[in-house]
Amino acid sequence: MKKILVTGGAGFVGSHLCERLLNEGNEVYCLDNFFTGQKKNVVHLLKNPYFELIRHDVTTPFFIETDEIYNLACPASPIHYQHNPIKTIKTSVMGAINMLGLAKRVNAKILQASTSEVYGDPLVHPQPESYWGHVNPIGERSCYDEGKRCAETLFMDYHKQNNVKIKIIRIFNTYGPRMDPNDGRVVSNFIVQALQNQDITIYGKGQQTRSFQYVDDLVEGMIQLMATPNHFTGPVNVGNPNEFTILELAEKVIQLTGSKSKLIYWPLPSDDPMMRQPDITIAKKELDWSPKIQLEEGLIETIKFFESII
Ligand code: NAD
Ligand code: UDP
Repeated sequence: MKKILVTGGAGFVGSHLCERLLNEGNEVYCLDNFFTGQKKNVVHLLKNPYFELIRHDVTTPFFIETDEIYNLACPASPIHYQHNPIKTIKTSVMGAINMLGLAKRVNAKILQASTSEVYGDPLVHPQPESYWGHVNPIGERSCYDEGKRCAETLFMDYHKQNNVKIKIIRIFNTYGPRMDPNDGRVVSNFIVQALQNQDITIYGKGQQTRSFQYVDDLVEGMIQLMATPNHFTGPVNVGNPNEFTILELAEKVIQLTGSKSKLIYWPLPSDDPMMRQPDITIAKKELDWSPKIQLEEGLIETIKFFESII
């Protein structure tokens, strides 16, 4: 039985990861400060004696004996990470330093939840890991993008300088049950609006694209990456290469919910990337991973979840 620490474990992705790791017979320590995560995301796991929920902020050091660390702690939706930008970058950078220090001390393997945002508003399409990105260092999204880029640098330097066993996963837009209905991300916004027959808020003309991955595919990719040999560090893109315009997503959500919602157009937020699609050649080769769940199937599951909570 492995002891596994999941930071940000009470969040959307973290709660699915904790559940999967417990189901595989591991002991799981879920650490969270409940900024965007909630106890209700993991309440069903509390009866498992091998699950422990710990309130802690990763910007301060944390000590535990553990074999593996999944470092997910960080608000992920633009409205949440822009709410307190200084705290966001502290969480990414100081969180990475504290967790890498822990990994070094106890000789644990550590995986960093990085992001497609390290590519910024990309000039190369689709984005391979070798692309260095196009990021505004002083814009609305910088606290998140640059915080995650700095965390990647720290991970690589702890690996090179101190032989820490690291893995970097660059996660592309992920959706599924337990997304927070109020966190402003496009999939949750559109489904909640459609179910309530409210106007669907398209930012800009809706011609910007995203490639949406279902949460179960992501969790599988994270576990596969953690299991790779020590010399493989990544970064590796994990996402679903099927790309949609935001307008196409809105139409699909309206169709699947049978909603009477109308589309309305709001201004495009600054630095909003115009296109995003992962090149997953490395994930296929090194992790033997590719996404299994396509948009319609994943949206149907996600719609069922939102119907049950709103
Ligand atoms: P989320 O907001 O649901 O989860 C983040 C969790 O981290 C929350 O439970 C939150 O309370 C916790 N947290 C935040 N600051 C903390 C701190 N200082 N100390 C301790 N805990 C803290 O978001 P998510 O979608 O589950 O994202 C999880 C991770 O995956 C994040 O690191 C995010 O950057 C990364 N990621 C997610 C996506 C996506 O589309 N969901 C895409 C790229 C990367
Ligand atoms: N978006 C939108 N309407 C919304 C929420 C988001 O049109 O109600 C757009 C947003 O401008 C962006 C895309 O959808 O172009 C994805 O936004 P999200 O916040 O989900 O993720 P990110 O921009 O971080 O990829």
